[in-house]
Amino acid sequence: MCLDNFFTSTRSGIADLMGHPRFEFIRHDVTEPFYCECDMVYNMACPASPVHYQWNPIKTTKVSVLGTINMMGLAKRVKARILQASTSEIYGDPEVTPQSEEYWGHVNTIGVRSCYDEGKRVAETLAFDYLRSNNVDIRVARIFNTYGPGMHPYDGRVVSNFILQALHGEDITIYGDGSQTRSFGYVDDTVDGLIRLMNQEATIGPVNIGNPNEFTVKELAEMIIELTGSKSKIVFLPLPGDDPKQRRPNITRAKALLEWEPKVQLREGLTKTIHYFKALDLRKYSKPTM
Ligand code: UDP
Ligand code: UDP
Repeated sequence: MCLDNFFTSTRSGIADLMGHPRFEFIRHDVTEPFYCECDMVYNMACPASPVHYQWNPIKTTKVSVLGTINMMGLAKRVKARILQASTSEIYGDPEVTPQSEEYWGHVNTIGVRSCYDEGKRVAETLAFDYLRSNNVDIRVARIFNTYGPGMHPYDGRVVSNFILQALHGEDITIYGDGSQTRSFGYVDDTVDGLIRLMNQEATIGPVNIGNPNEFTVKELAEMIIELTGSKSKIVFLPLPGDDPKQRRPNITRAKALLEWEPKVQLREGLTKTIHYFKALDLRKYSKPTM
């Protein structure tokens, strides 16, 4: 059973499942209550790209707060296990590197990213309070930057922006001087990590799910130019507010408790993602009307 309100996704993402006899799609917004019978809930709801979650920031906070309350309420009622998709953003602009699960984070409560960061922090708090108060069987995954085939071409994030710009010979738009770092996880590795966390008994989390190999945004741009053979030039634009300077997961916990670590490194993952974007019919996607 798949719920989506298609704010940032498209029907093409689930097209291959639509005819499956055991797949059911329901158009729903999790800020409204939802009643069904189920054994497991993956609460992945929330726009995750800064351009999307900042478009209607109050709604973003509602999705993480009201949406998580409703999904926890559902899990409590039917005694389902529930995995809450948290994020590296709960670490904010981190003062320690790499970030381990013990780190409490460095988050601005009133900045342009706060609707996402603080919303997701409250969602973690709700998960642990539903565990303590109602014995709900929670799992909490802190997902780091994820990319790969299936990404929306106008997602607005760095990997999709740079690949499309490189393929079309447009300028590659680096925000700031490009020295900020990110650690990019390939989608199959992220999904594998989430399924492992959900399906084992011992660990409730939080568990970092990410690739510990760290790159500057400038290195990412250069790698994409090289892999696409593009003639695009790099241009430098202003850095958005509160953009974290560094981000890199410590995955000791996931390795030890889930026997999980990423298998696909950036060069291989980007090659697959470039292949996907080359084959994509962009006319089927609209640019966000923001
Ligand atoms: N809820 C839901 N589906 C369910 C059960 C609950 O959407 O199957 C919602 C319900 O509307 C409630 C919220 O989840 O507002 C929290 O549920 P909980 O049982 O924790 O709180 P209560 O109903 O006691 O306020
Ligand atoms: N970024 C960039 N050019 C773009 C899009 C993003 O330089 O066209 C930078 C952005 O400022 C940030 C990093 O790339 O430092 C990752 O941005 P993204 O929006 O993908 O995710 P974030 O990790 O910031 O949530």
